Amino acid sequence: MEPIDQALKNIEEVVGGEYILTSPKVLKKYALNMIASGNILPAAVVRPASVEEIQAILKIVNEYRVPIWTLSCGQNHGYGLACATKPGMVILELKRMNRILEVNVDLGYALVEPGVTFRQLYQYLQDNNIPLWMDVPSASPDASYLGNITERGAGYTPLGEKFLFSCGMEVVLANGQVLRTGTGALPGTKTWQIFKWGYGPYLDGLFTSSNFGIVTKAGFWLMPKPPAYEPLAVVMEEPDAVYRAVEVLRPLKLNMVIPNGACVTHVRKALGLTACWGESKNILPRVGRRFDYDSEVLKGLKKDYSLGEWNFAGALYGPPETVRTYRKIVEEALTRAIPKCRFLDAAEQAASPYWRAREKAMRGEPLAEFDMSGWVGKVGAEWISPVAPVTNEHVQRQIRIAEETYSKYGFHYAAELILGTGRDLHHIIWLLFDRNDLEERGRADQCVREMYDRYCDVGYLPYRSSIDMGDHLMRKLGHFRDVCHDLKRVFDPNNILSPGKSGVDLEDLK
Ligand SMILES: Cc1cc2nc3c(=O)[nH]c(=O)nc-3n(C[C@H](O)[C@H](O)[C@H](O)COP(=O)(O)OP(=O)(O)OC[C@H]3O[C@@H](n4cnc5c(N)ncnc54)[C@H](O)[C@@H]3O)c2cc1C
Repeated sequence: MEPIDQALKNIEEVVGGEYILTSPKVLKKYALNMIASGNILPAAVVRPASVEEIQAILKIVNEYRVPIWTLSCGQNHGYGLACATKPGMVILELKRMNRILEVNVDLGYALVEPGVTFRQLYQYLQDNNIPLWMDVPSASPDASYLGNITERGAGYTPLGEKFLFSCGMEVVLANGQVLRTGTGALPGTKTWQIFKWGYGPYLDGLFTSSNFGIVTKAGFWLMPKPPAYEPLAVVMEEPDAVYRAVEVLRPLKLNMVIPNGACVTHVRKALGLTACWGESKNILPRVGRRFDYDSEVLKGLKKDYSLGEWNFAGALYGPPETVRTYRKIVEEALTRAIPKCRFLDAAEQAASPYWRAREKAMRGEPLAEFDMSGWVGKVGAEWISPVAPVTNEHVQRQIRIAEETYSKYGFHYAAELILGTGRDLHHIIWLLFDRNDLEERGRADQCVREMYDRYCDVGYLPYRSSIDMGDHLMRKLGHFRDVCHDLKRVFDPNNILSPGKSGVDLEDLK
């Protein structure tokens, strides 16, 4: 018997036949991703129910040297979905471990397992009348909160930098040991989810965007529902408004006047989102599958959906008087600096699917934007996500690179700029293509690589990447790559945990 078959047989005894999936039909589904480089067929999908089962699985895969690929809910749209980096791995899917272990109303935190989805936590807060708001990404309500933390995902409330607002993890290491980070290391700890740093080295970061362990619990902070909440919807007509906007928004973010993951969105991305929602799906023929509308059509679409060339969504939270004062400050600053910039009133926001979605996301209601990826037919979509300093100069440079590269490969630029702390912004650039059209897919693949090369060449690293780009990017990082591999040897000498994740793979060193 091949080692993989023996390993799967033994794993079946641990999880039970129902929770080890090997049928070609299921595997084909898990092989599918949306990225340009192609599908990746796993050997099996395993769904453990507990830490103890994970420990038993690790013993087996270490013995037979079978690599496993960990995921929580597998909704990693645009970065690889539920796929591993290489074919033939066993997907370890932690969906069944889906307990909300604690929500502390007084101290504003939660502790969850990997299978807890945004939908589930939101529902829990609603059902129990808990006056706390959580953060959300915009892809899918069925994504995992913990998975979004381990990917250092970005959201739209004041808690948008998910990893920044996480607090305490439980991790199963490759040798089966269970590590609790932060103050969780102390038996009987009373501060695991309230004090991030613990005692001694801070380890949590090692288990994000990495393959050093399997995270089985994560704590994170929730925000008290504010007495007043005001979404700001600002339509900017001029193509260069985005550069002026970042200059105005930087001090407003740095001073925490605008505290949330506010974003400036290009009209093509905003139209993509608009097309997700039932009532406005019919706009597709007007826009064209490759945004190949003419300027008259675009003018009409902008008018119908209250959109500008660039669209700013931010929000204010706090006592009503503070919100009123801050609103005045923001309005004056933006309208003074940006010609043809308009604040939409509540009725206009409510009439536009795009602005309605923004309003929800900024108060932590999960969205389902995933549908927009189906725009081009056979779901081909990839995100390229370089980080930029929040200045006119850097944003101009990044947009120029994207526009030049996209135009070289025959695509149209569409993006969203999420302002993090006011210092950095995530430039989330959307690449849409038809995966069934091999010529177009090849162009998309080249385009992605060239984008990363061009950004890295001038000093802009992405905050994460699709699964196939890890090695390409990690090789640009010199000694950092060596240290990551040294750590891999310490944590996982048999290289069985998600080899290739973020370009860390002991096989590559041979
Ligand atoms: C239209 C659209 C909009 C999107 N919007 C956003 C957005 O606003 N913000 C954002 O951040 N992302 C966004 N995404 C990307 C993605 O969908 C989300 O990041 C999503 O949360 C990832 O899926 P998941 O949470 O189910 O994680 P998973 O798919 O379960 O995990 C993702 C990766 O994290 C690691 N991982 C997961 N769980 C563990 C674990 N327990 N232990 C160790 N490693 C683990 C693995 O490497 C895994 O491959 C968007 C995608 C699309 C297509």
